[in-house]
This record gives sequence, structure tokens and C-alpha cells, in this order.
Amino acid sequence: MRKIIAFAIIMMVGITFAFYIDYKVQAGDTLYDLSKNFNIPIPVLMDWNPSISPSNLKIGQTLKIPLVSGIMYKPSKALTLSALAKYFFIDPEEITSVNLSIGSNIPANKEVFVPVGKVNTSFTQLADFVWPAYGSITSEFGWRLHPIYNKNMFHSGIDIGVPLSTPVFAARGGTVKYAGWQSGYGNVIIIDHGGYQTYYAHLSKINVYIGLRVEKGDFIARSGNTGTSTGPHLHFEVRKNDEPNDPVAYLPRTNTYVMRRVFSE
Ligand SMILES: [Zn+2]
Repeated sequence: MRKIIAFAIIMMVGITFAFYIDYKVQAGDTLYDLSKNFNIPIPVLMDWNPSISPSNLKIGQTLKIPLVSGIMYKPSKALTLSALAKYFFIDPEEITSVNLSIGSNIPANKEVFVPVGKVNTSFTQLADFVWPAYGSITSEFGWRLHPIYNKNMFHSGIDIGVPLSTPVFAARGGTVKYAGWQSGYGNVIIIDHGGYQTYYAHLSKINVYIGLRVEKGDFIARSGNTGTSTGPHLHFEVRKNDEPNDPVAYLPRTNTYVMRRVFSE
């Protein structure tokens, strides 16, 4: 009996705290196969295992594989559950259903497991482009007094104010054309949409690689403060045949437009 209780307690602890399993890489495994077999998108696998790429998997290497598609989010400041849900464009219930001990207020530094597989369901498919992150525009497209260089310079995109490590989503389906460091941009992803390109800059974490196909609303990165940046934000560009255009002209009118199901306050 004692053994059964002990086992039950271990199981409960396991269910409550283990959101992933350890997996040892076998001969012949590819990132693509692992993604398919475990039904976890490649960017989610890359978020759990920051050092992996399609070309560097080693036999016997231990990978963390989440039990369902989702990532750990650790807010740097206290925030409400509904605010957290907005960063992921999901319903708060999707977070409470997998975090049994969570309340409506989340303290700073509490690790929360947040599902990301359903992000697409919150986006309207009517919009050609969707917002890459939930936040307000802190700097618009066009000529501005540059905050660091202190002279008039052209701002080739918009800045969306978001805390560090906020998820970033593909604004439209396409193929990753660049993923890495560029001066000024810091860590940047460029997605080619055929005639259009989108840029996601100053990232803290890049979860895609060149050549990866992504769909509209796919989780691709975490926001950051890398490159020439005065604070955590996402710099987002829409280019038409490599010519920067005002992204606002392509995006739904407000953030709430893309997250009707979460719009409850
Ligand atoms: Zn910017």
C-alpha cells in the first residue's frame, strides 16, 4: 500500500511538473523526423533545445521533447493570466488546462508551460498578414530622430514593445531566407513570402533555420534586445520586392482583430 501511495505521489509530481521527456538521439534521427514522430513543430523543439540544428544532432545526445506542443515562459515581471494569454494569442483556458496550480495573477519568474500548437486557430485566416507579436507600436515606420544616433534616420519598420522572451510568430507563410546575426538588427529572421519579405529583429532566440517552411502564425522566435536597440522590443518590417513598406498598411487594424477569442476585457 505504501508503495502504491509513493508511486501515486511520484506520478502526480511527474504530471504536475514534467512537461517534457528526455529523448536520446538514435542513429538516423533527423530534426524533421523527430518533429513528425512526436508531433511537435521544429521551432518548438529548437526552443527547448537551444543548441540544436538539422546538421548537428549527435547519436546519444539527450533532447528535451515536450509532451504537447508548448514552451516554457518565465515572465520577468508579474502579469495577469489574460495578459500572458495575449502574448501567445490563445485563450487563458488553454494555459490553465495544463498548469494546474496557476491563478489569475502570475508572479515574476514563475515558469509557465504555454501551449503554442493552437496559435493558428486564434488568427483570422482572412488577413493576409498577422501581427508577429502582441504589443503596442512604440516607434512607427518612416523618418524619425534616431534614439541612439540622435540624427534623422529612416525607420524601415515598426517597433512593437514587448517584454524579453515574448513569443514571435510568422506574419505570413513563407520560407526562411536568413536566420542569424546582422549588424544593427542583432539576431534577425528574414522570411520570404514570394514578392514580399518580413523581418523580425533584435531577437533573443531564433528557433528556425534557413530553408525551413513556416506557416502564418507559426511560433518562430523569442523577442529580445540584441543589436542596436534601446530596450526589449520587436522590430518588424514588411518589404515588397526588398523595398521597405509601412507594415501597418498590411496588418489587421488592431491587435485585437487577430485574437477575437481572447478579447474579453
Ligand atoms: Zn525598429
